[in-house]
Amino acid sequence: MKILVRITLGISLLFCSLTGYAASGSVAESDVRYSASLFVDLTTERGFEEVHNQFADQFQPMDDLSSNFGFSRAAYWVALELENLDNQDQAIIIRQDYPLIDYVDMWTQTPQGWQQRSTGDRRPFAERDVDHRDFLFPLTLNSGEKTTVYLRFVSDGALNISLSLSTPSSMLEQISLEQLLYGGYFGGFFVLIIYNLIIFLVVRDKAYFFYMMYVLSLGTYMGVSNGLAYQYFWPNNPWFANQGLLFFLGVSVIFGLHFSRTMCNIREYAPRFDLFTRMLLVVSVVLLVASPFLSYKLLILPFSFNTLLVAAAMLILGFISMFRGSKAARYFVVAWAAFLLGVIVYLLKSFGVLEHNVITHNAQQIGSLIEMVLLSLALSARVNEIKEASHSDPLTSLANRRVLDGVFPVEFANAQKHGSPLSLLVLDIDNFKKFNDRLGHVVGDEVIERVGRLLREQVRKPHLPCRYGGEEFVVVLPNCDAEEAEQLAERLRQQVENRSTYTLPVTVSIGVATFTGAEFSHHQAMFEAADSALYDAKRAGRNCVRRAV
Ligand code: GH3
Ligand code: MG
Ligand code: MG
Repeated sequence: MKILVRITLGISLLFCSLTGYAASGSVAESDVRYSASLFVDLTTERGFEEVHNQFADQFQPMDDLSSNFGFSRAAYWVALELENLDNQDQAIIIRQDYPLIDYVDMWTQTPQGWQQRSTGDRRPFAERDVDHRDFLFPLTLNSGEKTTVYLRFVSDGALNISLSLSTPSSMLEQISLEQLLYGGYFGGFFVLIIYNLIIFLVVRDKAYFFYMMYVLSLGTYMGVSNGLAYQYFWPNNPWFANQGLLFFLGVSVIFGLHFSRTMCNIREYAPRFDLFTRMLLVVSVVLLVASPFLSYKLLILPFSFNTLLVAAAMLILGFISMFRGSKAARYFVVAWAAFLLGVIVYLLKSFGVLEHNVITHNAQQIGSLIEMVLLSLALSARVNEIKEASHSDPLTSLANRRVLDGVFPVEFANAQKHGSPLSLLVLDIDNFKKFNDRLGHVVGDEVIERVGRLLREQVRKPHLPCRYGGEEFVVVLPNCDAEEAEQLAERLRQQVENRSTYTLPVTVSIGVATFTGAEFSHHQAMFEAADSALYDAKRAGRNCVRRAV
């Protein structure tokens, strides 16, 4: 877990430094004074002349250049009064740092009259003053100039006004750092995709495929939501700049859910909840298929709601799996908690409950990167669990036959080479068929499980107890001579007998073989000797220990 803490801390620090940086370097350092006021046109039909001439007195002062109006159909007018107090001309850049606004228009006063600039993500990218994911408007204020700039915002989605003023040089510094952080962020996604693609091609475990597709679609969704995808992937397709957000959100929800169901083994652990997640999958697919045909306005609320439901379901999946003892699920739960927190913060910001700042604005991205790293760890933990499972017997949790077949020949070779003693116990439950016949298979299994538990408790490393199959067990005892082995066998026999609580007695017969350098030429011969000692014990009346001769 330590490594997780470090990764999480590292990522948080990275974003904290961004926050600190974004807060500094504003135009306040230069000699431009500004104030802003807001007018909401509920009809959305008023033109610039009308607003400027007839509604000038209806502008209300804004305390803050960042405001969130949630989903609103009105047109929002901001009047920015600027005054250059310096005796030199001053270049400034006005930045709107929420790039998903449909239409942003700006009017500035020039000697030739009011000049309009039009942008927004429903207009082709090339119409922007500056090729940047956000909306940037460069201006020059003459020495002593006092002027008013008008901005109009209209959007189907969340209406976040987030304006800032900077000098070009401080804007350059700030954007350089942001681009570097975005490079790291998307670079991380890219590495995770390639890495997991390779693993998928090698191991062919579909969990890796789902994960990879999830990272790919979520990464692209993040790229759409911060405007980079529009800038670099489809600058001539404003329709997809908007609809793509829903499309990639839909795809990532579907793959995220597939991934979680596989990862958490939900079909096995909780079939009813699995049914619910399948219903969510159907809803998600329907929404995705509908997304190209219905408007953003109509879809954004059902999409947001579905995303929240799916995210909550995935968290529940993780908890179910975790309480079933999966270690991988611990990483999974922490991963989802981080992302869910990010989504909730972002949605609350989108609906206007939380203020717009660097943390709330990037909450999904911060959460998603932490999530992706932790999910990758969850995947490798899962592979380890599967590997462990293939080595252990599900009923008794003892090592299985496969482990024995690997370990025993090696121990035999070691004993041959070093001249150290090696002993082997072969143990079989007596009259076990009667248990099954009279008390049923469930009780039969319980008896096997209890004998297995006794072996796990009583036999310590480097001694290795295994379930050989059925009601037979084998114990490999390196560095253990005949006397010690027989003592252990006798102790085990007594304890099985003493612990019996059924109407039929539970007893075991045990065969012991010991190798001290010359008795057997091959490990198989040693095993056969122990096995035939076991049959001697059976013939002698059961519930006893016999040594191979
Ligand atoms: P003996 O004392 O001679 O060993 O008598 P036995 O009845 O134990 O004889 P045998 O070893 O031939 O029978 C073992 C039975 O154990 C046969 C099989 O039906 C049953 N069995 C094997 N594996 C399992 C299991 O995983 N669970 C249950 N309930 N029964 C099993
Ligand atoms: Mg038996
Ligand atoms: Mg048997």
